[in-house]
Amino acid sequence: MTSTEKIHSADPAGLKILKYPHPLLAEVCTPVEEHQDSALASLARRMMELMAQAKGVGLAAPQVGVTVRMFIANPTGQEADFRVYVNPKIVAAEDPVEGEEGCLSFPGIYCKIKRFNVATIEATDLAGQVFRQEGRDILARVFQHELDHLDGRLLTDRMGALAKLAHRRSLKELQLQYSGELS
Ligand SMILES: [Zn+2]
Repeated sequence: MTSTEKIHSADPAGLKILKYPHPLLAEVCTPVEEHQDSALASLARRMMELMAQAKGVGLAAPQVGVTVRMFIANPTGQEADFRVYVNPKIVAAEDPVEGEEGCLSFPGIYCKIKRFNVATIEATDLAGQVFRQEGRDILARVFQHELDHLDGRLLTDRMGALAKLAHRRSLKELQLQYSGELS
């Protein structure tokens, strides 16, 4: 499926946040080809709703089952700070730091992950304009976390062996919940 087909076949109202170990979360996402697409804007609006309900600061399209290269972020929860990033890439990063990180696809799990404390992203907005933004602290972390999602990389791919051991029970519960939803 092309990215346009993926975006157009999704029904925004029916979307929900997928939890680990849903297989779509492990996919490498396809670049968005069509900008200024009203279906892309509807998808972003729906993701904003879901992210706000879940009290998240970032949400990637594959987390709602649409495997295209787009994510949204809102590090403050203020309406004005909400932003959409289409086909994002990090063009500069510095100052690696370890920090606590969670993920809406891993409810209840927080672990220490090393990320750059400053990261500059280049992306396209919903109007088709390319922009650059420098993120610091939490926003830089959100950029790197959401970009990981677009490449199918999850917290479980970033956590060390000790963290995996520490969270083994919660991870097992998520796996059981997922297989329960299938049956
Ligand atoms: Zn996440």
